[in-house]
Amino acid sequence: MTARDEQTPSPIRLADYRPPAWAVERIELEFDLGIDTSEVHSRLHLRRDPAQDAPLRLDGEGLELLAIALDGQPLDASGYCYRDNVLEIDRVADGSVLETRVRIRPAANTALEGLYLSGSRERGFLLTQCEAEGFRHITFFPDRPDVLTRYTVTLRADRERFPVLLAGGNPDGAGALPDGRHWARFVDPYPKPCYLFALVAGRLEKLERDYVTADGRHVALVIWAEPDVIECCHYAMDALERAMRWDERAYGRNFDLDVFHVVATHDFNMGAMENKGLNIFNAKYLLADPDTTTDDEYRAVEAVIGHEYFHNWSGNRVTCRDWFQLSLKEGLTVFREQQFSADMNSPSLKRIDDVALLRRAQFPEDAGPLAHPVRPSQYSEINNFYTATVYEKGSELVRMLAGRLGPEGFRRGMDLYFERNDGRAATLEDFLAALGLANGIDLAPYLAWYGQAGTPRLSGEGHYDAAARSYTLTLRQHTPPTPGQPDKQPLPIPVKLALFDPDGRMLPLHEGATEQVVVLDTQEQSFVFPGVERAPVPSLLRGFSAPVVLDYAYAPVELALLLTHDTDGFNRWEAAQQLAWRAYMEMRDGRGHEALTVWGDTLARLFDQATLDPALLADLLTPPSEVELAERETDVDPARIHALRQTLQRELASRVGAAALAERYRALTAQASDALDAASQAQRRLKRRVLELLVLLDAPTAQAFAAAQFDRAATMTDRLASLAVLVRSGAPQATEALARYRTRHADNALALDKWFAVQAQIPGEPALARVRALEADSKFTLKNPNRVQALLGTWARGNPSGFHRVDGEGYRFLAARLAELDALNPQVAARLATAFNGWQRLEPTRREQARAAVAGLAEQSLSRNLAEIVGNMLKG
Ligand code: ZN
Repeated sequence: MTARDEQTPSPIRLADYRPPAWAVERIELEFDLGIDTSEVHSRLHLRRDPAQDAPLRLDGEGLELLAIALDGQPLDASGYCYRDNVLEIDRVADGSVLETRVRIRPAANTALEGLYLSGSRERGFLLTQCEAEGFRHITFFPDRPDVLTRYTVTLRADRERFPVLLAGGNPDGAGALPDGRHWARFVDPYPKPCYLFALVAGRLEKLERDYVTADGRHVALVIWAEPDVIECCHYAMDALERAMRWDERAYGRNFDLDVFHVVATHDFNMGAMENKGLNIFNAKYLLADPDTTTDDEYRAVEAVIGHEYFHNWSGNRVTCRDWFQLSLKEGLTVFREQQFSADMNSPSLKRIDDVALLRRAQFPEDAGPLAHPVRPSQYSEINNFYTATVYEKGSELVRMLAGRLGPEGFRRGMDLYFERNDGRAATLEDFLAALGLANGIDLAPYLAWYGQAGTPRLSGEGHYDAAARSYTLTLRQHTPPTPGQPDKQPLPIPVKLALFDPDGRMLPLHEGATEQVVVLDTQEQSFVFPGVERAPVPSLLRGFSAPVVLDYAYAPVELALLLTHDTDGFNRWEAAQQLAWRAYMEMRDGRGHEALTVWGDTLARLFDQATLDPALLADLLTPPSEVELAERETDVDPARIHALRQTLQRELASRVGAAALAERYRALTAQASDALDAASQAQRRLKRRVLELLVLLDAPTAQAFAAAQFDRAATMTDRLASLAVLVRSGAPQATEALARYRTRHADNALALDKWFAVQAQIPGEPALARVRALEADSKFTLKNPNRVQALLGTWARGNPSGFHRVDGEGYRFLAARLAELDALNPQVAARLATAFNGWQRLEPTRREQARAAVAGLAEQSLSRNLAEIVGNMLKG
């Protein structure tokens, strides 16, 4: 099932979009399921677009065609042509019914796209993954999201081996068959694109809960998992109920089927999938249990449960016209999830997490050879466009629109969007039109954000005129060129701001409000604020009101003022980030230590402030990641960045003081609870941060703390935090702790993933030897995406000093693994290959080694997925 197709297929272009010549009104699908082979019988009720005169063309990949008939008449070989993954039939009449029977091979499907086996032949189960173009691996169909069809699905299988049979839609009967087989039928009343089709068959257990929607529908919520982990689904069930209530309240959206299934699998290429009525989840975003799940993972489960559920409206009821519109559902749904998570937890912590992710994952994408607009204009392999740009930047664009309209205006706009587009395959233009129309505002200027790649640089300059008692803020924007887009247009950039007086009080602005949004929509613009008594300190881009890089020549003491007094939690953190970054640059360039002193002293003062949320404090004490620091440099030397960042943190630790850190650690340990409430989570987050700082100052003490914490830990959060400190600091206790962890969690895949990941993070040159050793571990396999991500992904994408060895061994090793992985699972290989992103900005020695490794890969026979990534990487 590997896809070593054409090496350089011609790209698909947005400009070439044409409506489908043929629609499918109804499909009757029958499956005879088996692990080695399954048979799929399909009956398509076809409708021709009277305006077009094209033969019927259906997608189909790797299908063994057993029978084909048109309107009941079997077709012989002259009646159709199946070539290059397209089935073509001439002279089909409008209203015809095409019947096909095909054989497919689930157990041989290592790409995990289409119908495949999760787990072992003996105990595993069958499931499907169709987004983006997996349905063509199941049966012949116009595999494009603008063909919406009503599904009737009948599943047949051995009752003993496959006691549970599920498909999307409402159940419509089930029963016994001869020879120990049985059947079940599902009817989905809502027309849907084929990427939302799903089925599941196997031995699964369930948790069930009755839910009544705000509009009075009884819905059976059913979560399915393999028997050994079904008890780990209670948290997800609660989260699902919270998500459903939230969507009713926040957007007036109710669920629309009688049953909602959710299934967990350990073999999944992505996070989860919103198939209509049958969500399928990567187990790591569904299973949760106090002994093996960290606080961050609990929040991730809630977020992904929310995300997939919210797709029922933003994605399923209103879907995408074509894959270029992917952000229409993904950006919007990420935004809805962010709002949900903020409401369930702390809004500022959520914002900090999300912006940190944007900077770590999306900014580098936008700055490198893989840069693409939120709405790309062409692709070769659509699976390569499930990116941080489409998801995370896409969400930021929705956030800007929501900010522009205000909460009520946005809700009005969303209501109209759902109303006008329900049951349709829509475009981003449809989205902006509905939001604008509901508010009498022309949002068309924001479309430019969707078409232009690259992160805008926003520079600001303040001028205080004491005589006129006015403050003038001048803003300027510039977007650097990206591949294929040398010239950039100015974009509308909403800047939410406040002004602080030198004592840290907010000044009244327009009509007494203390916050205001100004929109920069040209290259440069000045904004005047009258009646300002003293030179103010501006707090800009509050809440990160636009996805840009801001340059403002703050004096370190001004940043300290914001860090201490800003009422916007996000901007307090941002001030700390700015200070840390300046301290870093001072150190790098050997230019004094003004920022370092202000940063360290301000944080040392805040460290003792009893009223500060410990979780926020933990974030304030964390400087930008190595990836972010590298982003702003040329001739990047990841080893040097790692060393400098360590020094920076050691300086911070020493300003807070070893005694204060140790004392705080003891106090937090004394209060420790295993509860999941926000306060307990916040304490654990700070405890971890304090330990990480202390180990840089006084390793023996911190390592002893960590070893004791590892022994006693009542939560996975505490256990993993202490293990990470031991392993990364090269503590003498690390080896034994790793061995004990391994024994304790030997049978738990998700816990073992963390065991691999924590070791893949050891800094510097030793990382590669460790990765090689772990590869030989009996529990390692290239066939499981989570395991690959845990070991190779963590090392190559999350451990710059470990991956970027100066001898280039890291690059060659990764290239070799990519070639191997590509033969099994092209999607996972292509994603892992993005570890090479940014190679052009490395210092010359590493740059040449990385280039050679990527070029060597490009010469091999690769999947379309990997070929596209590698090709773009070399072009940029
Ligand atoms: Zn999504």
